Amino acid sequence: MAALNSDQKLLKDHVAIVTGASSGIGAAVARHLAEAGAMVAMAARREDRLTTLRQEIEKNGGVAIAVKTDVTNRNEVKELVRHTESTLGPVDIIVNNAGVMYYTMMKNLHEDDWERTVDVNCKGVLNSIGAVLDGMVARGKGHIVNLSSDLGRTAFAGLAVYTGSKFFVEGMSAALRQELVGTGIKVTNIQPGDVTTEIFNASTDQETKEKYDTSINQSYKFLDPEDIARAIVYAVSQPPHVAVNEILIEPREAPAF
Ligand code: NDP
Repeated sequence: MAALNSDQKLLKDHVAIVTGASSGIGAAVARHLAEAGAMVAMAARREDRLTTLRQEIEKNGGVAIAVKTDVTNRNEVKELVRHTESTLGPVDIIVNNAGVMYYTMMKNLHEDDWERTVDVNCKGVLNSIGAVLDGMVARGKGHIVNLSSDLGRTAFAGLAVYTGSKFFVEGMSAALRQELVGTGIKVTNIQPGDVTTEIFNASTDQETKEKYDTSINQSYKFLDPEDIARAIVYAVSQPPHVAVNEILIEPREAPAF
């Protein structure tokens, strides 16, 4: 099939921010949004990885910028949005993807892991929303996409604080969506099951990993980051009156419901 020219692309002239674009799902989302014609601002702490991805996207004819950002720092996130808007234009889409996950049972008191989980997965999402919302409301359009999880819908032992962080994202988003009726802004939550990424490498609680980590001795095929990226491109390319409010996407052999 012939490649689409830039005028035919679904997201032509759209500006998108993707947080946590330095690896895994976020990197795949940045690639797919750029492929669909969006100009993409990629944010994360590891600038070297963002630069490599930016070069790859540019080589493929896309437009991307790399902006070193810690999503737990409200000022840095505001600066990310300011820089994106002055470089690429007003933000149409923000994908709040940056996240951490630590397998740890509550009884083992890995309190630093608890705190990082809340800081990145909850406060990080709020910092992003706080940085784009007034602009989107003023323009009467915009799309906020949050990476929740199937654990935003059901609990999973060994991931109690992570589950709580994703329930936070779900509850906050549902209320936000209701508040935004009449503003032209959409809020979509993506709820992936297991996806093969580096997120499984960060846990230090060996007891919990051995008991609950599904990436050890995988008994079913995990999703790939691209599977999630395609779902996000679908959600953000619907007509203005259509709201894809959530997408649950799981490995075929591991339904949580
Ligand atoms: P990765 O570990 O591959 O990527 C996480 C990304 O988040 C990295 O780019 C990392 O960048 C970024 N990040 C972490 N902390 C910060 C911070 N303080 N500031 C800015 N960026 C940060 O994980 P995934 O791709 O798997 O995860 C992406 C999202 O998908 C997360 O929200 C996760 O909860 C969710 N998810 C993942 C599932 C899975 O099975 N993989 C399942 C369901 C949901 P850097 O370190 O460079 O800052």
